[in-house]
Amino acid sequence: MRAVDIIRKKREVAELTREEIEFLIHGATRDSIPDYQLAAFLMAVLWRGLTGAELAALTEAMLHSGEVLDLSALRAAKVDKHSTGGVGDKTSLVIAPVVAAAGINAPPGRPRVLVPMISGRGLGHTGGTLDKLESIPGFNVNLSLVEFRKVLERCGCALIGQTPEIAPADKKLYALRDATATVESPYLICASIMSKKLAEGIDALVLDVKTGSGAFMKREEDAAFLAELMVETGEGMGKKVSALITNMDQPLGTHIGNSLEVMEALDILRGQGPMDTRELCLDLAGWMLYGGGIGATPEQGKKRAAALLDSGAGLEKFRQMIALQGGDARVIDDPSLLPRAKHSVDVVASGSGFITGMNCHAMGMASVILGGGRAKKEDSVDPSVGMIMHHKLGHKVSAGEPLCTIHYNSPMRAEEAAALVRRSFQIGEHAPARLAPLIHRVIGSQGNAE
Ligand code: URA
Repeated sequence: MRAVDIIRKKREVAELTREEIEFLIHGATRDSIPDYQLAAFLMAVLWRGLTGAELAALTEAMLHSGEVLDLSALRAAKVDKHSTGGVGDKTSLVIAPVVAAAGINAPPGRPRVLVPMISGRGLGHTGGTLDKLESIPGFNVNLSLVEFRKVLERCGCALIGQTPEIAPADKKLYALRDATATVESPYLICASIMSKKLAEGIDALVLDVKTGSGAFMKREEDAAFLAELMVETGEGMGKKVSALITNMDQPLGTHIGNSLEVMEALDILRGQGPMDTRELCLDLAGWMLYGGGIGATPEQGKKRAAALLDSGAGLEKFRQMIALQGGDARVIDDPSLLPRAKHSVDVVASGSGFITGMNCHAMGMASVILGGGRAKKEDSVDPSVGMIMHHKLGHKVSAGEPLCTIHYNSPMRAEEAAALVRRSFQIGEHAPARLAPLIHRVIGSQGNAE
């Protein structure tokens, strides 16, 4: 087989065989196919797309380019959640311990559920779970797979970053996509996400596919298309997969930034905190529990998740996980141990009226400018900076009233971020006629509900 023939075939829109796709991915992993040919293949996929069979073959080849965790000895359903990325999205910090709390101590004969979660760092204007967890002093996201398994066994959930053993082909292709303007292909996104998630050895997966001004998929139809690809690919591999299309026209909850988001997650785990974060956490956890066989319906799963959250069982599980991963678990009772920025300043409303729009992407960028995210991959993040929002879309505000508070360490960065945030708010005379629901629809696992 020759890479050039496979590239030409894809370019001419003929369907590739599984063997041809395996040949390319094998070559990518072993460095036996040069980057220029892989890049040409990626561009051909971006333009021509993939059939269902090709996408399944690509995802499986990428999955098997590295280690696939075998957690079958841990007799429990393994479930996970993945978000396509948003602003203020701290749901993983809440959901992983809440779901784990449902299953780990289940009496014999009752379903058990574990959450092996391999997460990512901030990407572009969006935050990343690993950066948030690392704001907890001592928390180690770089466990080996052996250590990961031990934490999972003891506490029911563990949260780490991608290890070199997991889907190495994705690592190679992702770097090439980044440099060749081919990141956007929904087929390539699907294969990238699903190969890594399925390498966790899970039985069920819940996808939180964001749409709106703060999402990578701005248009709902693009988000739904990606969700359908991921659900079909996962289900084709025998997994229970559901995708919630959720709104990202405004930040989720109130806190944006690494340690600030941990604080909000702790509030939620204490039964407090903003309603939108709580609701989305409970919906996602409900679908995860349902996927893991706890609850005959996602609604029953959600009720169970609410009970675990309100009883404090989720908070205790988070405490246990922090301690097992080397973190200072005292932050649970004393969040002032989390890093805090030195200064704060309010961004105030320029006029009176209703908040009719927000540029949520710009809010995420403001957090990056403050130092909460990375401009370049090598940059380090400042765990303490970010923003606390005081208003949501549709709220009535008066001129001079604080819209949000910026927490910063560098005055120059704060000025730039404040200007961006100020421009991000639209204030009008009339309340918006309609606000998008938090959950637009569910695709897969008998969802498909509007
Ligand atoms: N996240 C991933 O892991 N891969 C993509 O391609 C996009 C987002």
